[in-house]
Amino acid sequence: MNRAAGALTALALLACAAGRAPARGSLVDVSEALPGVALDIRYATPDNFAKAAVYPAARCLLRPEAAAALKAVRSDLAAKGLTLKLWDCYRPLSVQRRFWELVPDPRYVADPKKGSRHNRGAAVDATLAGVEMPTGYDDFSANAHRATLGGTPAARANAKSLEDAMAARGFKGLPTEWWHFDFAGWERFPLLDEPLTP
Ligand SMILES: [Zn+2]
Repeated sequence: MNRAAGALTALALLACAAGRAPARGSLVDVSEALPGVALDIRYATPDNFAKAAVYPAARCLLRPEAAAALKAVRSDLAAKGLTLKLWDCYRPLSVQRRFWELVPDPRYVADPKKGSRHNRGAAVDATLAGVEMPTGYDDFSANAHRATLGGTPAARANAKSLEDAMAARGFKGLPTEWWHFDFAGWERFPLLDEPLTP
């Protein structure tokens, strides 16, 4: 084995080890990484499509890499007078199973067999605070699809500003939900079922 191949093998082994690494400590609290960030964690309240609080705490946890990128997004938006607000971040796999029972439609809820990118701490549901947006959260209709956004022209322009700011820092928008963004390289991170403890 030459030196380059040896290095690649070592990298592959490291990647495997990372995939099996215990979840604890692999996520950061976004309120600490982005002090003062606006949170509206709907799944910690009954104000969501499940009509029940499914998280025991209103916390936003993410992989450190995603949190760092989100910090840059927040600064970029602030420079334009816009305020980032977060609806959901890391979601335990057990909650994903509950959502799938309620909405077994892969356009809107990831099949827990494959897992959601939220379960990897590598996706975020984001909006802008204090301005009109195309729909409310978890509006499972064509009005939430990026290609057929509902709402006023101003609301659609705000969604575009959010999408552009997220894309510039490595977050790719889901076609069917204007608020959902996957962090680039999400497949590197393992599915997690750590509880969202207070
Ligand atoms: Zn989402």
